[in-house]
Amino acid sequence: MRDRVTLCFFVDALGWELFRKHPCFEDVAPHAYRQRTVLGYSCAAQPTILTGEMPSTHGHWGMFYRTERSQLASLRHMRLLPPALSSRWRVRSQILKLHRRSSGISGYYNLYRIPFELFTKFDLVEQKNIYAPDAFASGTPSIFDDLAGRSVPYRVWTWRTPLETAFAELEESLASEGDLRFALLYTAYLDAFLHENIGDEAAVGAAIRNIERLVCRAVERARRTTRQVDVLVFSDHGMAPTTGEHDLMAELRALELTPGHDYLVFYDSTMARFWFAHGDARTEIVGLLRELSCGTMLENGYLKDEGIHFEDGRFGELIFLMNPGTIIVPSYMGGKAPAGMHGFSPDHEDSYAVLMSSEELRPTPAHIRDTYAAMRRLAGIG
Ligand SMILES: [Zn+2]
Repeated sequence: MRDRVTLCFFVDALGWELFRKHPCFEDVAPHAYRQRTVLGYSCAAQPTILTGEMPSTHGHWGMFYRTERSQLASLRHMRLLPPALSSRWRVRSQILKLHRRSSGISGYYNLYRIPFELFTKFDLVEQKNIYAPDAFASGTPSIFDDLAGRSVPYRVWTWRTPLETAFAELEESLASEGDLRFALLYTAYLDAFLHENIGDEAAVGAAIRNIERLVCRAVERARRTTRQVDVLVFSDHGMAPTTGEHDLMAELRALELTPGHDYLVFYDSTMARFWFAHGDARTEIVGLLRELSCGTMLENGYLKDEGIHFEDGRFGELIFLMNPGTIIVPSYMGGKAPAGMHGFSPDHEDSYAVLMSSEELRPTPAHIRDTYAAMRRLAGIG
């Protein structure tokens, strides 16, 4: 009989509002806490959960950062493909698969619909798998450094493993690995589902039940072989239904400025990030953005307060954030608006994440970075 095990289930995009509409996991983790997220996407929120630090400390905010020495520069040759081919999802995912195999990058990245020539100017932040020790160039330790440093036997499943396979392997580990002390299972299943189906309450409820059933079964299996099973179920952000879209690219094209020459821009689905070659370009673009009611320019003071300010502007010298629910279409993320999106203001109700625990947590967790302390505490290394 194992003495104790901590099971962490990271359900990407299980927001607080969704949890309220579809109460779940009460049987295994009855103490639920609303958690503020960080402004940005999973590539910012997940490192914050794993390290307990904000992006300006651990260094990961956008998926790509501005540089003149990108290791992804060889992708620029793909720009020679005819657009009818290179814009196809299937072709892009094949290119990504081959690139992942040859690049030696173990972190998560995606090429989305980013123009290939931009890879000469943007490089990937997440070079290493963040679900392993020694992942951050900043030297920030994560829960995996803590576990490895104390020789705590642990297992982890990431985006690389399909949902059912991950749960089957977890159950196998619980049955066969007598010294297993900590396990973290991450799933992007709900995130992908919500992007397409957030308006369909019945289907969303069924998707949540599906994950809940798998979690409860794994906890049940753990209880058979372990005296004490501690459980955490948590997310990184919520999901806001799409209520509008805006063609920001068309607005920028109408200016008498040449992208790539006068300025650079990266179009995320909820943010546009700008870099300027000269002051006139900045003045003109600021003038345009000031007139738009679909979003706001973020002040440096706000970025500092949110823990996402970078002195060298590697993630943008100017950031324009869309209003909650309104998406930039087209963007480098896609040509059509999904049913739901995240990456809006952390203060919007649909942005909040959730943390559920088998035991009451004190002090009360209120931010996704508090998940790190919760994991350490339940693992007995806090
Ligand atoms: Zn997502």
